[in-house]
Amino acid sequence: MDDIIRVFDTTLRDGEQSPGVSLNTEEKLEIARQLEKLGVDVIEAGFPIASKGDFEAVSAIAREVRRPAICGLCRAVKADIDRAWEALKEAAHPRIHVFIATSDIHLKYKLKMTREDVLKASVESVAYAKSLGAEVQFSAEDASRTDLEYLYQVFAAVIEAGADVINVPDTVGYAVPDEFGALIRGIKENVPGIDKVQLSVHCHNDLGMATANSLAAVQNGIQQVEGTINGIGERAGNAALEEIIMALNTRRDYFKRAVNIDTTQIYRTSMLVAHLTGMDIQPNKAIVGANAFAHEAGIHQHGVLSERSTYEIMTPESIGLKQNKMVLGKLSGRHAFEERLKELGYNLSQDEINAAFERFKDLADKKKVVLDKDIEALVTEKAIKIPEIYALDQFQISSGNKVTATATVRLKHGDQFIEEAACGDGPVDAVFNAIERCIGREVPLDDYGIRAVTEGKDALGEVTVRVRNDGQVFVGKGVSTDIIEASARAYIDAINKMLYETAK
Ligand SMILES: [Zn+2]
Repeated sequence: MDDIIRVFDTTLRDGEQSPGVSLNTEEKLEIARQLEKLGVDVIEAGFPIASKGDFEAVSAIAREVRRPAICGLCRAVKADIDRAWEALKEAAHPRIHVFIATSDIHLKYKLKMTREDVLKASVESVAYAKSLGAEVQFSAEDASRTDLEYLYQVFAAVIEAGADVINVPDTVGYAVPDEFGALIRGIKENVPGIDKVQLSVHCHNDLGMATANSLAAVQNGIQQVEGTINGIGERAGNAALEEIIMALNTRRDYFKRAVNIDTTQIYRTSMLVAHLTGMDIQPNKAIVGANAFAHEAGIHQHGVLSERSTYEIMTPESIGLKQNKMVLGKLSGRHAFEERLKELGYNLSQDEINAAFERFKDLADKKKVVLDKDIEALVTEKAIKIPEIYALDQFQISSGNKVTATATVRLKHGDQFIEEAACGDGPVDAVFNAIERCIGREVPLDDYGIRAVTEGKDALGEVTVRVRNDGQVFVGKGVSTDIIEASARAYIDAINKMLYETAK
């Protein structure tokens, strides 16, 4: 049996379908580059026929990210496959992913097709995709609720038609580990030709069993596992790849299967995805949550201090979480700052370092000790370089429990300065209203959230806002020790992204 489990990442396709998430091409490219560093075998970059943005992102990733296979999703129809191939053909390793539902409930209510129709469409589209010269993956959507004999029949037919990878999705997160393992075993025993192809699974987390189901499939001899970083995805999300990877690594003694992953890139990948999608990670999330390696109870701390393995089954370093919290302060020079950035894994240009150093100096004036997390927040706030169509120059607020909040904001727009004043329900609302006046249009706010980057009352506040335009969502981030300033920066960031995308 093949020892390696191939890792198929669908953060940019299924993950991007999470409510409130919308990534632009630059952001998707940045995540794809990081996934390549992490070492995933396949990147599903999007659904090319779904939108112009998806098509562009898949083509850009196909051109630039060369080591992993780049995959595009298609329904089992020719137009989808043609569009996907157009986006993928420059990839070093293109993969076309054809899917069609096979469960009776999907056939009857969604597709309005008979079993014979679906079988025919599956075979024809796999054969057509194969004729283009790509590697072909076939998924039977809702496989875990599909009649077994029919599922075997469809899989056998698409293997015959040239499929290279057969994927078994638990689309609605309905499966239970033992049962899902048995499903995989049944497929291996009953589908002619299954040994010539890679068998894969794709699990959803509706009952919290996505990781367990994926691992049950691993134990039954699959060759590929699918999932997303931080488990993001529709509804309760997809299987979290970092969990599957660390389970396979930590319990190598049990699973006896390896992955081609550089686990020390997990933490950075997780941070980047959380930052760009605006989907924060719950503190107790396995592997990547803020508390995943924190030991609070005295008896645990004592144990870990004398011997880490008393309460630690894996080290924070193994996922790239640096425990060495070297502190920088007001007197730290540019050199020390630059060195720290390098140690944290950032490769920035001189201009970017200069800009980050300016902000670091400002921060060090307000905050005695600057921790790694502060530096990460400052650098990732500007992780994606979109043009700063508007920039915050200055603002002033007046607020209290017995007065109406008012704000005056001055924005820089090209060489000009625009200044406006407005009232609001509170200082943040007043500042947002003043910003809307400056840019001369309404920008409806969908969501607003704030979190402290570190502990302590001088901590940096990180604000995430979502604004909506024509049904599309744009996420903005802002960081400052002043939460009103962080809010203004986040709102302007979201507006800049919106204007940049709509001007394309
Ligand atoms: Zn899915």
